[in-house]
Amino acid sequence: MMVTHTEKAALLPVDEALAQLLADVQGIAECEQVALDRALGRILAREIRSPIDVPPADNSSMDGYAIRIADYAAGLREFPLSQRIAAGSVGHQLQPGTAARIFTGAELPPGADTVVMQENCRALGERVRIDAAPVSGQNIRRRAQDIASGNVVVEAGTRLGPAHTGLLAAVGIAQLQVLRRLRVAILSTGDELVEPGQPIAPGQIYNSNRHLLAGLLETLGIEVIDAGLVPDNASGTRDSLRQAAELADVVISTGGVSVGEEDHVKNAVEELGSLRLWKLAIKPGKPLAYGRVQGKVFFGLPGNPSSVFVTWQILARPCLLRMQGILGEVRPLELRASADFDWPAPGSRQEYLRARLENDGDGLRVRLYPNQSSGVLSSVAWANALVVIAPGNSVRAGDLVRVVQLS
Ligand code: AMP
Ligand code: MG
Repeated sequence: MMVTHTEKAALLPVDEALAQLLADVQGIAECEQVALDRALGRILAREIRSPIDVPPADNSSMDGYAIRIADYAAGLREFPLSQRIAAGSVGHQLQPGTAARIFTGAELPPGADTVVMQENCRALGERVRIDAAPVSGQNIRRRAQDIASGNVVVEAGTRLGPAHTGLLAAVGIAQLQVLRRLRVAILSTGDELVEPGQPIAPGQIYNSNRHLLAGLLETLGIEVIDAGLVPDNASGTRDSLRQAAELADVVISTGGVSVGEEDHVKNAVEELGSLRLWKLAIKPGKPLAYGRVQGKVFFGLPGNPSSVFVTWQILARPCLLRMQGILGEVRPLELRASADFDWPAPGSRQEYLRARLENDGDGLRVRLYPNQSSGVLSSVAWANALVVIAPGNSVRAGDLVRVVQLS
């Protein structure tokens, strides 16, 4: 059972929070069949085994001449050409003392055991002369060297990328079972919010989080349901959360999750379900609500756009990947890069600084966006990485720091 963190409780460290979140969510179970050309980005529901060998037969990796090495070993240097085999055609038994003209990808004729590349030969009309000593078995791609019939080609729980769909094509798979798409409803809290395209009045700002969040979800192939704007009052927040929960597997809101009188998300979640995490040791993004609303997974992300991005990347994204059905590593992968900045040690909250990772001769260097305020979304647009600074660790220029690369 998860600890509910009250206002006075110590802030929960990021790694512990993420471990708790990942233990608390479940992957989608429902499958659907899709055609291979619709499968990119989907999550494979069941492992796929190959029905065939790839390549299906020994074939030539070069343009050249197929021979029997025993003929060369016996002293033969000029071979009469008995056949010509291009990719897509099939040769016939290679008679002793003869060679077959052969091209890359063409199947080796029965009886041949070696291919001599054409650069080592001289074509003499109906004959070929071999000028350099061949090695037995050279320039042959062996049957099943890539995939053997019956072997697993792609594991269950894999997000299908171009190499996977290519591989599935290579074994002749045209239809496959994938997990159904995860549905996420998003809500934007805040009486100050106006949608782009509308005129803006004093006191108002445009709703950037909706577009930020919808985009982040869509890049994962998640079905996004815009559940609209939520007014800053208790009943409106409750109604909006309840309705959103009916539409989706997951509800994500932004803003209204702090402790001010205008922040109603926390109470609404406690009324409609359960609050399982609140107040994490992360900067930006301390007030983050996680729990259940009407039985559905709920994330209440902070309001500031940079906080939305960081808490999404570090906490919500791994959970949604797991819920999508991905079985491999979902936590952010970190690398190390040389800092080109100094930074004071954070007190209790792990900091995530918007940064740019660059090649630096033989290594990686990372520099910071000058304004790290959580209200500055420009920092996220500029960044291709987040620098992670743990509580108590200061940074001096030249130090190796932890970096999460953003895709
Ligand atoms: P809150 O947590 O609701 O107090 O919001 C924190 C800050 O983020 C405030 O300055 C809000 O105006 C801003 N904010 C909240 N939601 C959005 C949004 N959807 N788009 C842009 N800024 C927002
Ligand atoms: Mg607000």
